[in-house]
Amino acid sequence: MESVPFLVEVTEAEIRRERQKARELRASQWWKRKLAAGTCHHCGGKFPSRELTMDHLVPIIRGGKSTKGNLVVSCKKCNSERKYRLPFEDPAG
Ligand SMILES: [Zn+2]
Repeated sequence: MESVPFLVEVTEAEIRRERQKARELRASQWWKRKLAAGTCHHCGGKFPSRELTMDHLVPIIRGGKSTKGNLVVSCKKCNSERKYRLPFEDPAG
């Protein structure tokens, strides 16, 4: 079992690998079904699929992985807001 350390160092190679995995999942039937459902994970709003983006609950740079459990559908508004204000970390750094 692997525990998630509070502070993680993520190498560029790991970031590239997780981004590549995210791209692969974006092409999957699993993701297409989520987009077709059209519900934003954050605000619960309904959107057409072109208004939706893939969002990592734990960002890759924070050690998050491109797994189905860590990837959610987000509308563009929630996604851009989350870039500035993550609910589970203080904004310093
Ligand atoms: Zn939203």
